[in-house]
Amino acid sequence: MSLTLYNTLTRKKEEFKPLEGNEVRIYSCGPTVYSFAHIGNFRAYVFMDTLRRVLQANQYTLKHVMNITDVGHLESDSDEGEDKMEKAARKENKDPYEIASYYTDIFFRDMGRLNIEKPEIIAKATEHINDMLEFVNTLIEKNYAYETSKAIYFDISKLDHYPVLSNRNLEDQIAGARVDVDPEKRNPYDFAVWIKAPENHIMKWESPWGLSYPGWHLECSAMGRKYLGDQFDIHTGGVDHIPTHHENEIAQSKGATGKIPAKRWMHVEFLQVDGGKMSKSLGNTYTLDQLQEKGIEPLAYKLFCYTAHYRTKLNFTFESAQSSQKALNRLREGYVAHTKANEKVSEEEIETYKQRFLEAVNDDLNMPLAMGIVWEVVRNQTKSNQFANLLLAFDKILGLDIKNAQTYLEKEEKIELPEEIAKLLEERKIARENKNWAESDRIRDELKEKGYQVKDTKDGMSIEKM
Ligand code: AMP
Ligand code: ZN
Repeated sequence: MSLTLYNTLTRKKEEFKPLEGNEVRIYSCGPTVYSFAHIGNFRAYVFMDTLRRVLQANQYTLKHVMNITDVGHLESDSDEGEDKMEKAARKENKDPYEIASYYTDIFFRDMGRLNIEKPEIIAKATEHINDMLEFVNTLIEKNYAYETSKAIYFDISKLDHYPVLSNRNLEDQIAGARVDVDPEKRNPYDFAVWIKAPENHIMKWESPWGLSYPGWHLECSAMGRKYLGDQFDIHTGGVDHIPTHHENEIAQSKGATGKIPAKRWMHVEFLQVDGGKMSKSLGNTYTLDQLQEKGIEPLAYKLFCYTAHYRTKLNFTFESAQSSQKALNRLREGYVAHTKANEKVSEEEIETYKQRFLEAVNDDLNMPLAMGIVWEVVRNQTKSNQFANLLLAFDKILGLDIKNAQTYLEKEEKIELPEEIAKLLEERKIARENKNWAESDRIRDELKEKGYQVKDTKDGMSIEKM
């Protein structure tokens, strides 16, 4: 069965075949670790996870690089403002490396909670300064970059085409631009590949141009090339990367190698809130912890992401995320019900479900369609172990940890004791502490009447819904 994936570069869905053999080489733009990643960011990584899992389901092996931006990402995409890392360091009164290490750890903890597979190679910008310096040298040698008093700029007029990824009309943008263009730039849209550090800048390195630091786009060109070669299969990111970050990455890489670094560029649409963009700068973001406080598990958020195709906007509300939490519990209950029964299902029926599911995910990762098939199996009136196994096979792509469904349900029950029951349980605990066995038994009977079986264990009490 063929796999088709959309390519932003050609604006078409195309059949996917790796450039070389059976291995798919992927580069994903990772987080800038100056703060907590929010659920909008995680939509991008849930998409990345689905892509990985679908490629593996098509029997490909992966070599996947994700970067960690720990230097050089300025507040504005047009080479202006402070470095986000330095700004956070100043605000929190910490060293930028400390900030980076703290938020990187939390990022990977959250990736784990979302059951997102970790790419094979994690590349930190600050650990690749020499690779980036070599890249800048190549650009200068090949006459694609030049020095000013502020930075080393990439000269976009040297390219046959710019832009190639977006529909940006540079002439119109220049005419409409309100910002003053740096007079030292040869062309208004030249961008910094390497930036000279002001006196008080903390993250800076020796270079032929004095103490300085890399521009944000450079790390992706240099690290992608280092680990995946001059051209690889897939590059991923969010739609916000299209007009500047990825456009400029392509420009630099074409300058250095003559090639667009990836054959295929895939971009995930934004998670919105109240119909508008969710972003840190607008202050309308939520973290996984904030969802959890409202009883929405990270995996329920992952399921929520599957309600829309990755190329369409998805609007976040707590109500819809709560519905996904309920849906996740129903999915778990459905799976557990199938594990406990043994009605016979024909191999043909199982095969048909498998085919339909694979067709859906192979059609540019159509998760909403794939979920429709999952629900058909969950709700199937025939209860069978074969369906339980089928759901486990689907879960290789869904990544919802279905095999542990029972454990999650038990936890859920414990958490969701009605207030009245929790109160009775507490009263019984006090009665027992006071050795008031009659009262303890009376409450036990009352709980039984209300449908709860209480047991005394060596660690205290356990309660189960009957
Ligand atoms: P950053 O840490 O800001 O560099 O962003 C990390 C990733 O999250 C990038 O791939 C962004 O494109 C993506 N991103 C940021 N905000 C959103 C959002 N609201 N919805 C989806 N993806 C987002
Ligand atoms: Zn990048």
